[in-house]
Amino acid sequence: EGKKSLNFIEQIIEEDLNTNYKKEDLKFRFPPEPNGYLHIGHASSICLNFGLGEKYDAPVNLRFDDTNPAKEEQEYVDAIKADIEWLGYKWAKECYASDYFQQLYDWAVEMIKNGDAYVDSQTSEEIAEQKGTPTQPGTDSPYRNRSVEENLELFEKMKNGDTPEKGDVLRAKISMGASNMLMRDPVMYRCLHKNHHRTGTDWKIYPMYDWAHGESDFIEQVSHSFCTLEFLPHRELYNWFIKKVSKPGDFEPKQREFARRNLSHTVVSKRKLLQLVEKGIVDSWDDPRMPTISGLRRRGYTPDSIRKFADSIGVGKRENLIDVSHLEFCAREDLNKVAPRVMGVLDPVKLVITNYPEGEEEWLEAENNPEDESAGSREVPFSRELYIEQEDFKESANRKFFRLTLGKEVRLKNAYIIKGEDVVKDSEGNITEIHCTYDPKSKSGSGTEESLRKVKGTLHWVSVKHAIEAEVRLYDRLFTEETPDGVKDKDFMDFINPESLKVVTGYLEPSLKDAKVQDKVQFQRLGYFCVDKDSTAAKPVFNRTVGLRDSWAK
Ligand code: ATP
Ligand code: MG
Ligand code: MG
Repeated sequence: EGKKSLNFIEQIIEEDLNTNYKKEDLKFRFPPEPNGYLHIGHASSICLNFGLGEKYDAPVNLRFDDTNPAKEEQEYVDAIKADIEWLGYKWAKECYASDYFQQLYDWAVEMIKNGDAYVDSQTSEEIAEQKGTPTQPGTDSPYRNRSVEENLELFEKMKNGDTPEKGDVLRAKISMGASNMLMRDPVMYRCLHKNHHRTGTDWKIYPMYDWAHGESDFIEQVSHSFCTLEFLPHRELYNWFIKKVSKPGDFEPKQREFARRNLSHTVVSKRKLLQLVEKGIVDSWDDPRMPTISGLRRRGYTPDSIRKFADSIGVGKRENLIDVSHLEFCAREDLNKVAPRVMGVLDPVKLVITNYPEGEEEWLEAENNPEDESAGSREVPFSRELYIEQEDFKESANRKFFRLTLGKEVRLKNAYIIKGEDVVKDSEGNITEIHCTYDPKSKSGSGTEESLRKVKGTLHWVSVKHAIEAEVRLYDRLFTEETPDGVKDKDFMDFINPESLKVVTGYLEPSLKDAKVQDKVQFQRLGYFCVDKDSTAAKPVFNRTVGLRDSWAK
C-alpha cells in the first residue's frame, strides 16, 4: 500500500512522538460553541480531529465551548451531537467549558492573589481606547495597581451579581507595552446576568474565550489543540495562561493552527446562517439549501461523501475557497455506488402507443444498479399510455437530437423501441399527446434480433395509470455570487438567489411508494434524489441532491 505523505499537522505530531511525547499522551478535541448548527467548514475540523484520533488510536473529546449564555442553547448542543454521530465519529468524553467554571474562578482568584489579574472599572470603550496600536504601546488603566484586597472584594462582588452588566471586568496583568496586542492586559471575565443552558443562574460572570479555552484543554490534558488561523496571535496568550495555572512538570497542551475552509456560493459562519433562518430566507437550519451538516443530510448527502470531501481538500496553512462543485462531485461519486436507479418524470407529456392493446399491462424487469450487481432488479409496469419528459420530444429536429421525433426510433429504458408517428395539440397549439408505435419484438433483454437493434437515444418513462405523484424539490445555489460575504461594500444578503428552490410535481414508478425518509435513489437521467422528512404516504416529497453531472458553466 502506498504511503500517503503526511500533512503538516501529522508532521507536528510525528515530530512530537519522535522527541518528548509518548503515544499515550496524544489526545485531541473538537470544540464547537453551541451557538448554531455545524456547517461544512466544521466538517473539516471534525474530520481533522477525529481522523487523527483514528489514525493514532487516541481519544478525542467533544467539548462545548459554552461561555456565552446570550447566544447558546441546548437545541444547538443536541444538533451538534447528532451531526457528529451521523458523520460516524465517536467522542471519548462529552465535555463542557461550563463544567470548569468553578475551577476557572478559583484559578482567577489565585491569579489576583499573585498580582497577575486586576479588576478594571472603566467602560469597554475606555479600555479599547487604551489598547494602543500595533506600533504604539497601550496605556495603563488607572485601576491597574489596585490592592489584592480591593481586587478580591470587587471580583467577589462581580461573581455575586452585585456588579451590573457592562460594569467591572477582570483583566490579566501582563503588559500594556507588549508587541502582541492580545497580551495587553486581556479581559478574563465580564458580568453577564443571563440564564445559561446548563448552569442556569449560578454564574453572573463568564470567562472570555482566551481564558477558558486553553484552561479547558489543560484540564482535559489535550495534547494538541487545533484551531483556525485567526487564533495564531492568541497562541502566546494561550501559553501564558497555561503557565499561570500549571505546576512545573505538568503536561501542557499546545495550540496549532490550520486554515479555515470556505465553500463557494454560500457562507460558512453560524452567525450568518442564523440570519438566513431568522429572516426566513430558508425554512430552518436543516433546509436542504443550507451548507449545514443537517441541511446536507436532508438534501441527500451521505456521511461518506462529506468525509471524502473533507479528506480530499485536506488541511492547509492558507485559507482558500473550495468550489461547491467539488462537494457535489463527492456526493455523486458516492451516490453512484449506493443509489438504486428508478424512473420518474418531472415535466410530463403523455405518450400513447397506438398499437399496444388497450387495457393491457405488463411488468418489465429493470436492473437496480449497474454499479452493484448485488442490488438485484425490480419490475416496472408498462402500458399503452406513458409519461415522458417534454424536453425528450420535438416534432422535428436536426440530426443531433437523439431523442424522440416524428418518424424516428428511440428506446424506452427497460422496455421497447418506439417510433414517433403523430401529435395531438390543443387549440393553442400545445402538444397534449404524442402518438407512436412500438416494435413488440424489441423488448430489452429478450435477446431477439430486434431487441439488439441499435437506436440512438434511450428515454425514461412512467406508466400513466401506475404512476405515483410526488412533490419534487429542485434546488439551486442559495447565493448568486461566488463569495457572497467577500464583496466590498455589499452584504451577503444582497446576493440571495431568488430561484434557489423550485417545486414541481413528479410522476414516479410505483416501486417508490414505500420509500422511507432519507432513502436515496437516482432518477435516471435526472439526478440523485432523497426522500425528505416532510414526506407522507399520501404525499411523498423528494429532494434533488445533485444532478448527474456538473451542469454549471463557469
Ligand atoms: P462560526 O463563525 O461558524 O461560528 P467558529 O470557528 O466560531 O465558526 P466554533 O464552533 O468555535 O465555530 O468552531 C469549532 C471548531 O471548528 C473550531 O476549532 C473552528 O476553528 C473550526 N472551524 C469553524 N469553521 C471552520 C471552517 N470554515 N474551516 C475549518 N474549520 C472551521
Ligand atoms: Mg469560535
Ligand atoms: Mg463563532
